[in-house]
Amino acid sequence: MKILHGKGVSGGIAIGRVKFHKRENMLIKRIHVENPEKETERFRKAREITISELKNLYEKALKEVGKANAQIFEIHQMMLDDSDYLESVENIIRSQNLNAEYAVSVTCDNFTEMFSAMDNEYMRERSADIKDISARLIKNLMNKPENTDITEKNSIIFAVDLVPSETVQMNKSEIAGFCTAEGSANSHTAILARTMNIPAVIGTGSELSEEFDGMEAIADGFSGTVYINPDEKTKSEMLKKRDDELLKRKLLQNLKDKENITPDGQKINIYANIGGLNDLGSVLENDAGGIGLFRSEFLYLESSDFPDEETQFRCYKKVLECMAGKKVIVRTLDIGADKQIDYFKLKKEENPALGFRAVRICLANPDIFKVQLRALYRASVFGNLGIMFPMIISCDEILQIKKIISEVKNELKSSGIPFSSDIETGIMIETPASVMISDILAKEVDFFSIGTNDLIQYTLALDRQNPELEKFCDTHHKAILRMIKTAVENAHKNNIWAGICGELGSDLELTEFFLAIGTDELSVSPSMVLPLREKIRNTHIENKEDIIKKFI
Ligand code: PEP
Ligand code: MG
Repeated sequence: MKILHGKGVSGGIAIGRVKFHKRENMLIKRIHVENPEKETERFRKAREITISELKNLYEKALKEVGKANAQIFEIHQMMLDDSDYLESVENIIRSQNLNAEYAVSVTCDNFTEMFSAMDNEYMRERSADIKDISARLIKNLMNKPENTDITEKNSIIFAVDLVPSETVQMNKSEIAGFCTAEGSANSHTAILARTMNIPAVIGTGSELSEEFDGMEAIADGFSGTVYINPDEKTKSEMLKKRDDELLKRKLLQNLKDKENITPDGQKINIYANIGGLNDLGSVLENDAGGIGLFRSEFLYLESSDFPDEETQFRCYKKVLECMAGKKVIVRTLDIGADKQIDYFKLKKEENPALGFRAVRICLANPDIFKVQLRALYRASVFGNLGIMFPMIISCDEILQIKKIISEVKNELKSSGIPFSSDIETGIMIETPASVMISDILAKEVDFFSIGTNDLIQYTLALDRQNPELEKFCDTHHKAILRMIKTAVENAHKNNIWAGICGELGSDLELTEFFLAIGTDELSVSPSMVLPLREKIRNTHIENKEDIIKKFI
């Protein structure tokens, strides 16, 4: 038995046979051409064919994995319209009298090198897309047929890395799991695996070899371990783990419509975090009591220009209508740091996480902020809306926000546009400053939502984007748990509610602590709603003081 260690990016146990996916290595020759005009024409035809293939792939992906995941093929089509890329290919053909395959290959190398050297992780990951479209162009220049399906029944797909067009062409019903030598948690393979609920392990390193093709394997997407030719003991352990997991999921379905209540009678709200309309299905499927965090910046990130008031209004209205009177908390635009948007034209910063981001950008650009607030207030009549503001560090910021909100309300009133009179407004507690003055801030708002992802990064001084710092990151650090307790206590002293919307809210080892300090709400990813409900229904918290002491 051989064991590979990587990172589990989509939970579950996959048991099957290795199907090693090897990208066809197309040998590209450097050939002198007599007629560069004819060669350019040949390139343009291959480009047309490539675009139409990408259109078909988009339609296929749209049906199978939804709009958000299909969008990559629209981006690929746009890349084939990129004038720098096209000029580079055609220049090489014309100025050096060289063949189109070679020109595409050189252009691909230059562009991938340029993207790989970029600071921004998202842009670095785009180099895989350049390789993908270039390989497709070359395939069409060489008149090679499309490799339509690389899967077999119960395959565990092994690959050095997978590009989106390869993943989408696979027959999903036959794939048991994915395992790649490279890749990151944000790679498209990881994102697709999570959307499709298929176990996936990435980053196993160069030990992942073609020799494993056809061998029996087990991929544990929870622990990130992959077993090749597993021995009987491992096999039976993994089969048990898989069966336990399946049974657990089935049993959890019985918890739908049940209360989030401890055996001693304490209740808590479980809401869900979403990034957009596509996540609503799983919010309803998992019976979340509301939406505790709608990361509205995804509306901006998905768009190539500022989304206008109407577009935003339609989106918020749809979420509110779908949730049919249940609470929907929309967080206003939280960009900057890792979430960069070209059309905002933000300056490059030395320390972006400590820079111009979130509410700072909104307050410095009230015109942009007002578009979002107008859309939210207009949508408020369609359900139970809450609005919260990210990265707050002072009372003054809240006062400035209130002033802008009152201008928005007056504008709407004078135009006769209706809006709800009881919209809760709250703030995210995600900076140490906001915790320290939470007694003062609580007097100005209706609720606190604790953003532990940023609170951990700023309290422990650990960049959340840097995977090498993960080993230093003790998410149960007393400093963090004490901060959460302080914020919740100060909320309650001022008669407002406090929830947690950061990832720590779904850490089941901390559920008893969160209950003991009286947290009112936990907002978690939709798939964690039922496991958390189960945990709460089995957690005794009679001895609150003892529980709290144990943690802090
Ligand atoms: C957080 O910081 O915990 C949070 C929920 O916000 P985000 O992860 O979007 O920064
Ligand atoms: Mg945050």
